[in-house]
Amino acid sequence: MQKKEKTHPQKSRMGHPQSKPKSHAKNRPSVRGGTPDPTNPKRVAAILEKLDEAYPAATCELKHANAFQLVISTILSAQCTDVRVNQVTETLYKKYPDAKSFVYANPAELEQEIRPTGFFRNKTKSIIGASKAIVEKFAGEVPRTMDEMLTLPGVARKTANVVLGTAYGIASGVVVDTHVQRLANRLELTKNEDPKKIEQDLMKILPQDKWIQFSHQLIWHGRRVCVARKPRCVECNLERLCRARDKTV
Ligand code: SF4
Repeated sequence: MQKKEKTHPQKSRMGHPQSKPKSHAKNRPSVRGGTPDPTNPKRVAAILEKLDEAYPAATCELKHANAFQLVISTILSAQCTDVRVNQVTETLYKKYPDAKSFVYANPAELEQEIRPTGFFRNKTKSIIGASKAIVEKFAGEVPRTMDEMLTLPGVARKTANVVLGTAYGIASGVVVDTHVQRLANRLELTKNEDPKKIEQDLMKILPQDKWIQFSHQLIWHGRRVCVARKPRCVECNLERLCRARDKTV
């Protein structure tokens, strides 16, 4: 027997009934089945335009006063929210204002101070190790190249890209965090799951002068609209360009 169709009106996020969102199917550009390559320059440009419209001022949400603090905050942000990191660093940077002060930190004390960010033992080792390298090898200045950044303990491409891009404005690559990883797949800008491969894919299809801003914008979009579970597609200005399997409209 055929099931009776539900007739409840769709509810908005506030819980108020509202009419069903309009289908854009008729006006949708020919991405569904029509365009063979979803990474074609026209589509990529359209995505970039929409991101610029939605997030013209997207930037890194980790609070920092200089490149060094951004290194530390980015190390702390692994598996942790930026909000939590900012809460911890507000007092941390008063006690440890520069690389030298972290070099002489008591590891057991530092572990407790950064404990709320998780993985505090490893993060303590990375923070003290990176600070030591910055002081000893780079005269207290955070280096400005990817190769040099990667010599710092606890610093991999993601952290290096965050710091070079945000603190120095150097487009060394594309930051691929969990949001960029998810959204690049939903938007079919990559077929890969591995962040390193995703970064390579994105670097090939994005203009270099967009690398830094694109990462910030995608992270903002991933936090505010294209969230992991139940993306808010009804509110998404990329909806007509998107054919993600888990779209909610
Ligand atoms: S339409 Fe939905 S799945 Fe696609 S980018 Fe927007 S929020 Fe994400």
